[in-house]
Amino acid sequence: MFDTLKIHPDTIRALKETFGYERLSKPQVVYMPLMLREDKPDVFVKAGTGSGKTLGFLIPVIEALIQHGRPGKVGALILSPVKDLARQTSVEATKLLTFHTGLRAGVVVGGEEMRRDLQMLKDPPAILVATPGRLLDLLSNPEVARNFAVQTVILDEADRLLDPGFAPDVKKILRTMPGVDNRRTLLFTATVTDEIGFVPADTYQQRVGRTG
Ligand code: AMP
Repeated sequence: MFDTLKIHPDTIRALKETFGYERLSKPQVVYMPLMLREDKPDVFVKAGTGSGKTLGFLIPVIEALIQHGRPGKVGALILSPVKDLARQTSVEATKLLTFHTGLRAGVVVGGEEMRRDLQMLKDPPAILVATPGRLLDLLSNPEVARNFAVQTVILDEADRLLDPGFAPDVKKILRTMPGVDNRRTLLFTATVTDEIGFVPADTYQQRVGRTG
């Protein structure tokens, strides 16, 4: 049952009617109370593809947007290391937003027409899924950066995002991206690497398995 947690009824309706799910997956049961806590702690979840992680971070993202989102701004940023994963996450977000009028999701990935991204970001979605290189290119445009007021950042497959190929871009995004003061970071990783080991001492860790 979803009703025992503080999840918006429109989200629960989408989980039931659009996805056909009746309850949280086992891993979601473990970390969702932490995700939905009022004080919004940073959370580090060890969970790979197949655990239900995408909905696991989208549900709290939507709660935060309902509470504190600013109309006309990107309020939640999801970084993905792979274009197909980014597209898939955006599709899942759009499905979860079926009954939330006024909240939209969008995606920007490398290799696609930059013009299309610039056009889309003139009327920005509340949730943006992005690959790091393309997002950095876009954020160098002040017109684009102005439309970001990010309150939640998700590092999806953080082990890959923090490997040497991506880390410089990801760190630059986290340093420079316009956000709110008490920005929250949610980190999902299938494996724990040394880089990820350096999480702040006050970060919570949850170790979870697969959906079941
Ligand atoms: P992911 O780990 O995000 O790749 O999700 C793996 C699969 O689990 C996807 O098809 C999800 O839609 C599905 N899933 C996510 N949450 C639940 C849930 N609460 N109940 C059943 N399936 C779920």
